[in-house]
Amino acid sequence: MSVTIKSAREIETMAAAGRIVAGTLALVRRHVRPGVSTADLDRIAEDFIRSHPGARPSFKGLYDFPATLCTSINAEIVHGIPSPRRVLAAGEILSVDVGVALEGLHADSAATFPVGDISAEAERLLRVTQEALVAGVAQARAGNHVGDIGHAVQQVAEGAGYSVVRELVGHGIGTSFHEEPQVPNFGKPQRGPRLTPGMTIAIEPMVNAGAPEIRTLEDKWTVVTADGSLSAHFEHTVAIQENGAPPRILTTSG
Ligand code: MG
Ligand code: MG
Repeated sequence: MSVTIKSAREIETMAAAGRIVAGTLALVRRHVRPGVSTADLDRIAEDFIRSHPGARPSFKGLYDFPATLCTSINAEIVHGIPSPRRVLAAGEILSVDVGVALEGLHADSAATFPVGDISAEAERLLRVTQEALVAGVAQARAGNHVGDIGHAVQQVAEGAGYSVVRELVGHGIGTSFHEEPQVPNFGKPQRGPRLTPGMTIAIEPMVNAGAPEIRTLEDKWTVVTADGSLSAHFEHTVAIQENGAPPRILTTSG
């Protein structure tokens, strides 16, 4: 599959999907507390998404994933499956990833939330991962390359003493949830595919407090840090603008 360029109209539709995504994350955040199960959060998210005419959760059924949200706790990096048996406890961190499809177009975002009070180390990991996303997004400009994004993300994460996951990457997004190009969280400036106006990409740093290695649990979905260290995940879907302007973030409530 090749890189697709979206029309202004398609980008508006993706922004509408993105507003629902942002609303979903804001709603989930308000419900994250000790004693709530990840299945509770999943139901709240699915009901909210389906309350918007024409909108549906992107993940449900994608590669046979069974839920609306990916809910990944502590050393879980991504792709955790919501469960009524997984009840949140104070001090944990919860990564929530969600996609919405509207009129055949997708938007994708993720954030990691504290459950009650968390350690200073966990707070720092969340802050740095969010800063890595901001740095990556700032490089998503026409004329730059995909490697500029990954380089910026990597500099922030590794500069703070953390590592970035290599095997899982950001991606183009549009009529398909995963499109070209791949958007790694590492790279070299001016390398990789060139960014052009109308490209829409999901930038999603996955930052481990320890080593970068990962493994997949026996459920065949949940990806965890191999060393058991904490991991955080923040993501936005953005549109590349004309003339090297900063990208339009599509997954915001604004
Ligand atoms: Mg995502
Ligand atoms: Mg994504």
